[in-house]
Amino acid sequence: MASADYFRPEIAAMSGYVPGEQPKLDNLVKLNTNENPYPTSPRVAEVLRDFDWRRLRRYPDPLANDLRDRIAAHFAVKRENVIVGNGSDDLLTMLFRAFTSPELPLAMLDPSYSLYPELAAMQGARVIKLPLQGADFALPENLLELAAPANLLIITRPNAPTGTHFPLASVEKICRNFDGIVAIDEAYADFAPDNCVGLAATLPNVVVLRTFSKSYSLAGLRLGYAIADSGVISGLMKLKDSYNVDALAQAIGAAAFDDQENLRANCQAVISERERVREILLSRGFAVPGSGANFLFASPPDGDAKRRFESLRRQAVIVRYFPGEVTGKYLRITIGTPKENDRLLGALEE
Ligand SMILES: *Cc1c(COP(=O)(O)O)cnc(C)c1O
Repeated sequence: MASADYFRPEIAAMSGYVPGEQPKLDNLVKLNTNENPYPTSPRVAEVLRDFDWRRLRRYPDPLANDLRDRIAAHFAVKRENVIVGNGSDDLLTMLFRAFTSPELPLAMLDPSYSLYPELAAMQGARVIKLPLQGADFALPENLLELAAPANLLIITRPNAPTGTHFPLASVEKICRNFDGIVAIDEAYADFAPDNCVGLAATLPNVVVLRTFSKSYSLAGLRLGYAIADSGVISGLMKLKDSYNVDALAQAIGAAAFDDQENLRANCQAVISERERVREILLSRGFAVPGSGANFLFASPPDGDAKRRFESLRRQAVIVRYFPGEVTGKYLRITIGTPKENDRLLGALEE
């Protein structure tokens, strides 16, 4: 047999998640993977400078309690309500291992983060897609009915790639009425006017996922956290990798998290640029749903997003393009610095 024949059939059938590219071009304007254009807190530089390299001899705290305590204090929950991961992708992996199987389906929004179906495939779990409605990509009226067979429901809020920030009251109603775990992926919540941490703190079936990759400008570090009922957290603790967050990430994460002022300032700068760029695109006839994230989902007047994507690329402006019946009409554009955004807007006129 060829070595490929030994894979479980679920894995052999998978194509695998394709991350956005990280090209190395001169003069590149990179607006394709929702990274933050501004650096993280300068306190991180101090941690890196003062970190005793000899400490790496030892294993890190497997529970990352110092970091968990800081996160818990900020959100007025307990340490028992917080788990940290090697990026929020690690936390998603835990959720899929815990709550999906061939008998326990996943329900997710469509379009949404394309990693979810890959994680479901690894578990052999069926995927129920909940089609977002209309030009605003609103939640379907019959979401609860469609999602009912699922054991895990992921609501991405703000959603990627659409940027949509669903009404909090609708999400609360879903959480209260869904018989299963509702994971609210809040990768972009720091760019939005409100969030669902209050639901995770009060409802036993709600998990909120956060990442340091976007708002904290630490995509290269790989750090995320989840907030949920202590019963959910202790279950996830059983199946996580023992040392899933390394010592340096724990120390850097703590310093970045403590600098809420730097976080707010960076997010505010991104939000005001997001609104400026959106207004300009709207005035040029693009369809651009309102965004609560650090990116815009924009469809050119003629709907030919692929042509725009390729033209931008030739001008060294990289955005994200997702082929598909709905997504294929749009570009997902990460908000950069004002200068980068101006390069984008200029290049779109070519
Ligand atoms: C970026 C992103 C993540 C992954 O975050 P990491 O912490 O970098 O793994 C999770 N969910 C959504 C919707 C994202 O856009």
